[in-house]
Amino acid sequence: MPRSKEAEALAVIAAEIVSCQRCPRLIEHCRRVAAVKRKAYRDWVYWGQPVPSFGDPEARLLLVGLAPGAHGANRTGRVFTGDSSGDFLYRALYDTGFASQPSSTAAGDGLMLKDCYIASAVRCAPPQNRPLPAEFQACRDFLRREIQQLRRLRAVLVLGRLALDAYLSAMISQGATLRKRDYQFAHGAVHHPPGIGVALLCSYHPSRQNTQTGRLTMSMMTEVLRLAKSRLGECFQPETANFEQNKKNFPNVQPLDGGLHLYSFIRYCELSARVLGNPGCQPSATTLVSNHEGRTGLWCKRTSMKCASNC
Ligand code: SF4
Repeated sequence: MPRSKEAEALAVIAAEIVSCQRCPRLIEHCRRVAAVKRKAYRDWVYWGQPVPSFGDPEARLLLVGLAPGAHGANRTGRVFTGDSSGDFLYRALYDTGFASQPSSTAAGDGLMLKDCYIASAVRCAPPQNRPLPAEFQACRDFLRREIQQLRRLRAVLVLGRLALDAYLSAMISQGATLRKRDYQFAHGAVHHPPGIGVALLCSYHPSRQNTQTGRLTMSMMTEVLRLAKSRLGECFQPETANFEQNKKNFPNVQPLDGGLHLYSFIRYCELSARVLGNPGCQPSATTLVSNHEGRTGLWCKRTSMKCASNC
């Protein structure tokens, strides 16, 4: 099956991540860990380089973790794969219908994600699991660009406080007018940042430190994933009808008879400049926008359905 434009773009970003060398400290650490190895994995050929995201390009749910584990993703080359954090997370994803199997042991183990995409704030394994602020910043653009390509996104689940900060920073760098202090971290917290159109949920990170101390239990993890799932059908898109922006994006739109201006009826996501409409609608004003049969509002000419009823 041919890949969608978005899947192609995500693959390009993944390739850029793998070849990235922006953070010498982290690149050096990944290689050193790969050379020294842990005794239990001495027969492994470690991945030892930046780890790309993994999942379904059509995903409505995005998980954002912190960084690859030194002997987990840095060994196997796939996020949350090959360590106890991954065992915990993928079990929960399987139980909630997002993963095809409950375990994740190696990149070629057949695991597939459904409606879910997993990224990290930082793509290289950091010493002591602690990336530096400059390393978060250096890696931010990958997350921002991936979010832009995940066109069906409805919810983001951040795994830990640092992932929350990284996600908000990515959104701010994208142009969102957010104040970080408005988004407090708490396990199970749900936010609806204005102008983004995506629900933001928080969970403790499934690190061994959290799972072995009982701070994060399996039922807490599956509960927050179910909560995220319950938000996937909802529409939080901004009800923006920004006349000036629409005029710029859709220069061919003509005024309706009677002088009613169609620009005013185009709703779109300000961040992605994506038109919001019924599934299958092309991002084209002529397809999407109509004062259908004289009724005021946003209707799809092609389906005659009320627009955004299902977006
Ligand atoms: S952490 Fe990100 S920006 Fe830094 S080297 Fe790795 S992939 Fe590149």
